[in-house]
Amino acid sequence: MLNFTFHNPTRILFGEGQIAEIAQEIPAGARVLITYGGGSVVKTGTLDEVKRALKDFTVLEFAGIEPNPTYETLMKAVELARSERVDFLLAVGGGSVIDGTKFIAAAVPFTGEPWDILAKQAPISEALPFGSVLTLPATGSEMNGGSVVTRKATQDKLFFVNPLVYPRFSVLDPTKTYTLPPRQVANGVVDAFTHIAEQYLTYPADAKVQDRFAEGLLLTLIEEGPKALAEPENYAVRANLMWTATLALNGLIGAGAPQDWATHMLGHEITALHGLDHAQTLAIVLPAMLQVRREEKRAKLLQYAERVWGLREGDEEARIDGAIAQTRDFFESLQVPTHLSSYGIGAEAIAPLLAKLEAHGMTALGEHQDVGLERSRAVYALAV
Ligand code: NAP
Ligand code: FE
Repeated sequence: MLNFTFHNPTRILFGEGQIAEIAQEIPAGARVLITYGGGSVVKTGTLDEVKRALKDFTVLEFAGIEPNPTYETLMKAVELARSERVDFLLAVGGGSVIDGTKFIAAAVPFTGEPWDILAKQAPISEALPFGSVLTLPATGSEMNGGSVVTRKATQDKLFFVNPLVYPRFSVLDPTKTYTLPPRQVANGVVDAFTHIAEQYLTYPADAKVQDRFAEGLLLTLIEEGPKALAEPENYAVRANLMWTATLALNGLIGAGAPQDWATHMLGHEITALHGLDHAQTLAIVLPAMLQVRREEKRAKLLQYAERVWGLREGDEEARIDGAIAQTRDFFESLQVPTHLSSYGIGAEAIAPLLAKLEAHGMTALGEHQDVGLERSRAVYALAV
């Protein structure tokens, strides 16, 4: 097992009705800015429920954080938070709203150009405290310190990670996910699946407990994902899916284990240039990535084949082929396509994607830092 320091400061309030408890998690007298997206939380009544829980606070609202939150929109919230002297943020929505709120939290007290937090990894020394009410299980953003933001003007999708932007608390009420469109349910399963894969399908490091956790989470996604699509109001299914997505990227399974993340980096460029949903890009890139890197990942792919997909017959090559094919079939069964061509994107897209990777310094990716532009080209080519 690799050395690690693990500390996750986010308090989780899990279960139906937990929104009512949030007032106790916010300092008395705080001026609270609620941030949300395109209006799903207005339609579903979640925003009203949050406002009822905050009746004793001064509450302001910022609406319109889009999927793949943009710097341009978030800077408007930064101005509002500064001018209104807001001292607590509350994100109500999916990963985009939470990621966007993390950027707002870091940018409000930042004295330089806030884009540098993403583009130059400029250090931050403080951030506004914030909480979240999650409506879409997928990203794990509700219990981690990562954030991904897009600059629309230049088509750059970049991330920052900082311990100062863990949510103080997150409410996970599975009933709030009943209204999700099937596309977002499927996206959530694929995103969580890929988060686990990026921390599990690397090389053996004697991280046995992390491996068993990862396999349990993958099996839960494989079992519960299709059920969530078939029975949208099944509480037990939604609850298991929600907690799985959180555990997939809250640091637990990754502590002490090698980590990859090349699939996410190649996927971000596809979203930035072609506008696909985050998870749609992962479903395209992951199977191709595993294929291109099957030698370095051989031992873990064989373990994955056996323990997750039950593949014990045939020689090693056949079992690895089978595991990659099962992964692809699982995504396709959720109606998430696994090829760029399904979106009308062909080989002409590869050179601009590689140029973006290069511009972003993404030239030594993966658990061995050996995924350079040529291997990324091979992955994109296979993904077409
Ligand atoms: P999202 O972009 O937050 O939301 C997708 C759509 O779902 C929105 O249109 C939203 O509508 C709708 N929606 C959300 N909850 C709903 C509900 N309960 N009922 C009906 N509609 C609902 O999706 P996401 O997959 O959670 O987040 C994707 C972003 O997170 C990407 O930018 C990705 O790069 C990032 N990400 C971050 C991390 C991390 O660790 N921080 C990890 C992976 C990905 P409204 O806008 O109207 O609310
Ligand atoms: Fe992701």
